[in-house]
Amino acid sequence: MIYMDITCHYCFETFPIEIYLEEGEEQDFIIDCEVCCHPLHIIAKWNDDEGQFNIDVDET
Ligand SMILES: [Zn+2]
Repeated sequence: MIYMDITCHYCFETFPIEIYLEEGEEQDFIIDCEVCCHPLHIIAKWNDDEGQFNIDVDET
């Protein structure tokens, strides 16, 4: 399991999310912001060179 910090589009707070590489190298899911509870669309793509996910946060 990998922790990645994301920034909410609504309140601009940063908080960590958990991602499991076992679930795939490209993941697309909705989570609620821990701070303001707005849903956020997360697009995560595994970056083998850096050994972490590249995260895009989009509006739902
Ligand atoms: Zn928020």
